[in-house]
Amino acid sequence: MKQQTANSANTDLKKAGLKVTLPRVSILEILEEAEQHHMSAEDVYKTLLKNGNEIGLATVYRVLTQFEGAGLVTRHHFDGGQAIFELDTGDNHDHIVCLKTGKVAEFKDAVIEERLEQIAKDLGYTLNDHKIVLYGEVIESAKEKRRLQVRNTGTKKGR
Ligand SMILES: [Zn+2]
Repeated sequence: MKQQTANSANTDLKKAGLKVTLPRVSILEILEEAEQHHMSAEDVYKTLLKNGNEIGLATVYRVLTQFEGAGLVTRHHFDGGQAIFELDTGDNHDHIVCLKTGKVAEFKDAVIEERLEQIAKDLGYTLNDHKIVLYGEVIESAKEKRRLQVRNTGTKKGR
C-alpha cells in the first residue's frame, strides 16, 4: 500500500515535469493520503515530522510553490487564515471555512452552477471559472447531542 503511493507520487512528479526528490515525494504523498486534504504548509510540515521526516518549513513552502507552478496543487487564500493547499483534482469545487477552527469543507452544487452560468450570460459573458467561499462556524452537533442525552437521563432518574 505504502509502496503504491510512493510509486504514484513518483509518476505524478514526472508527469508534472518535476525531478523526483525525497522532499517532493514525501510532501506529495502526504497530500495524496491526507484525510483532511486542505492543508497549510505548517500542517504538511507537522505531518512530515510525525512521520519522522525532518524537512524544514522553508523547504515545504518551496516545494508546495513548485507544485502549484506545475499544476499539481491549488493554493487557496481564505479570509483570516494562512494559505491552504490541496491536490488539484480539476473538479472545481467550492469551499466553506469555519471562522473559529479554520476547518475547510467542500461542496459542488449544480443549481448554483447553472445560476452562475445564467448570470454570466445575462451580463454578456462566458463563464470560464468561479470561486465561492462561504464563511461560518462548524455546528458542534456531537457535543450538543451528548449534552441533551445527559439531560434526558437525568429526567428519567428523577421520576
Ligand atoms: Zn477543496
